Amino acid sequence: MNMNFDAVYFEPDILKYELGQMLRKKYDELPWTPIESHNRIPEFSNASNKEFPKLKQHLIIGIRKTHKYSANEKVSNWLVPYTSSGCRAMCLYCYLVCNYNKCAYLRLFVNREQMMDKILKTDATSAVPQTFEIGSNSDLVLENRITDNLIWTIERFSKEGRGSLTFPTKFDMVQPLLSLDHRGKIIFRMSVNPVEIIRRIEIGTSPLSSRIQALNDMAEAGYPVGLLIAPVILLPEWKKLYGELVEQLADSLSNKVKKTGFIEIILMTYSFVHNAINTEAFPNAVNLYDRSQMTGRGRGKYSYRTDAREDTQEYLREKLSKCLGSMPILYIS
Ligand code: SF4
Repeated sequence: MNMNFDAVYFEPDILKYELGQMLRKKYDELPWTPIESHNRIPEFSNASNKEFPKLKQHLIIGIRKTHKYSANEKVSNWLVPYTSSGCRAMCLYCYLVCNYNKCAYLRLFVNREQMMDKILKTDATSAVPQTFEIGSNSDLVLENRITDNLIWTIERFSKEGRGSLTFPTKFDMVQPLLSLDHRGKIIFRMSVNPVEIIRRIEIGTSPLSSRIQALNDMAEAGYPVGLLIAPVILLPEWKKLYGELVEQLADSLSNKVKKTGFIEIILMTYSFVHNAINTEAFPNAVNLYDRSQMTGRGRGKYSYRTDAREDTQEYLREKLSKCLGSMPILYIS
């Protein structure tokens, strides 16, 4: 992944934090522009959709002020806003593209101690140990390349936490995590899609074969692991694509992943905003809005119709039970 940024926009107070000072040195050669708030950068929100890829080259650094957790019932108890939001990659369906250009670019938050203290306190004061999803706002494996935050997080939570942390990724840069003393408290989830979908739609992410290798390596290093088949995209040839994906996974996943890992499956949702940005910024890309299979879900959002969802579920359950029957499917949503 090309991590070259062309400019940094920063809240001046970040320089009061160790991580802020480290980033200041690291990106010293770039132009640094002060901003009032990472949430309001008028020149970004006023930019045209065409400029979306250009905005992705900027790095925004601020202080996270909102620390509200949302209850969750999938692999974790809580979705936690953590050390970054947005991403340098450009998956055409990315759910972080919530409000035109406002949330797409990578924002780093330097107050990681404050965020970790809250996680540890919530964990310690709950009746039973809790699981926290820390990767729902960005890709932390990618972010770790810039900040080493994941290393810091795993080391601190493993020593002080009772429950677990979990995060998904579409990147393969797990080498720095393999030797950490994680004490089985970090659940690593690798997101996968067919090779062709990664190449044409998940622009800027790691290839399938290296994601599989990274998952095998993490399992070998003792991390609890999961496989996230997501988002399932119903292109016209989807059965062939996902059938081949499951076969490739069966051939390449290690026995350890097959014996200990679990599977989550999420079908793609899309929106009017995605469609507007993609049409203007990526005019030659695959059109993910499929009128014949999608239905409105309110507020400009689209999801696959019930009959298409049922067909997909049935196909994937059957294929997975044949090829990867030892891995439980936690849910298909
Ligand atoms: S890797 Fe994840 S966070 Fe980054 S653009 Fe793709 S879906 Fe969004």
